Amino acid sequence: MNPQDIAANYERLMARIRSAAERAGRSPETIQLIAVGKQQPAAAIRALYALGQRAFGESYVQEALGKQAELADLKDIEWHFIGRIQANKTRALAAHFAWVHGLADRHHAERLSAQHPPERLPLRVCLQVNLSGEASKSGVAPEALPELLAACKSLPNFEVCGLMTLPAPAMGEEAQRRPFRRLRELRDRLATPSHPLPVLSMGMSDDLEAAILEGATQVRVGTALFGNRT
Ligand SMILES: *Cc1c(COP(=O)(O)O)cnc(C)c1O
Repeated sequence: MNPQDIAANYERLMARIRSAAERAGRSPETIQLIAVGKQQPAAAIRALYALGQRAFGESYVQEALGKQAELADLKDIEWHFIGRIQANKTRALAAHFAWVHGLADRHHAERLSAQHPPERLPLRVCLQVNLSGEASKSGVAPEALPELLAACKSLPNFEVCGLMTLPAPAMGEEAQRRPFRRLRELRDRLATPSHPLPVLSMGMSDDLEAAILEGATQVRVGTALFGNRT
């Protein structure tokens, strides 16, 4: 996709975020856009960076490392890993990402904590919750979340910032809002003064309005910015 189209998409997307924030009675600044560049070339990321975007999401470790090398001159990009975590890739994640969404396993958490370079800011993570109950979807079951959270809280170099979910696609705003509401309610129940879990990472191209209405603080958007993936 050419830079002009990306710019037009970016403008449209920011207008969607502003208008959903307004409906929710929230300030648009409370919602961070994570631009998902998976299966898109480095040039597309560079084009969006030129417009001021700084937070970018990737789902595949090898692909991400290749693009990070191509974009090494853009020092202030904030890289978010949003893909499925594999134990043999945690070292690369800990070294090359500021954020890891989609954490659902305490052994992965322990590895990430131990492997994160101590001179850097703590690795920021979101715990992924599976709210659709489908075995094929990754994420921890809501019942198992308190135990995972407790195990993660004590890890060094590691900051559990909140929760993430990736619900099954649903038609209509009310149906889309249901899992997002459940994620917010789970967060409200688990938040404590020392671990307020401010981040709700939820909402993508097709359901970001529903997510913002339910309190999303990070929306992860690919297609609406960069078009269909190759
Ligand atoms: C691909 C992906 C997105 C972006 O999805 P779009 O529908 O293209 O906006 C968001 N979150 C996760 C976890 C993804 O894998």
